[in-house]
Amino acid sequence: MQNRRVSRRSRMVALLLAIFLGIFGAHRFYVGRIASGILYLFTEGLFGIGVLVDIILIATGAFYDDRGLPLLNWDETPRPIITTQPHPSPHQRSQPAQNPQPAQKAQYQSNEPVTYCPECGSINDLETVYCSTCGLPLKR
Ligand SMILES: [Zn+2]
Repeated sequence: MQNRRVSRRSRMVALLLAIFLGIFGAHRFYVGRIASGILYLFTEGLFGIGVLVDIILIATGAFYDDRGLPLLNWDETPRPIITTQPHPSPHQRSQPAQNPQPAQKAQYQSNEPVTYCPECGSINDLETVYCSTCGLPLKR
């Protein structure tokens, strides 16, 4: 089984860099070949010859990055692990304060602890044992 590892660097980017900025060694910096990049920088791409050769190598897929992997993909390969996480949208403006629940209909609900006398209907305190009106013993 052949090891088909390929450089993550874009062949297209390298090619364009070589064509337009090759005499500065830009394409070599791009693929991580810093030393030769610096050499190109000071020699104007090995007097232009190196750049021409590189352009041909890149175009034919025979150009290698700093790890010795050939630049074959025209698109840059995204790093596998790092997932591009969408930035938390800066436009996400805080939702206009939601209308507070319309004031609840003030429905009177007596929570007073009272006891209605089953006999006369009068209201007694919960603690009241005998109806204050008719004297009926209220539930205990
Ligand atoms: Zn009563």
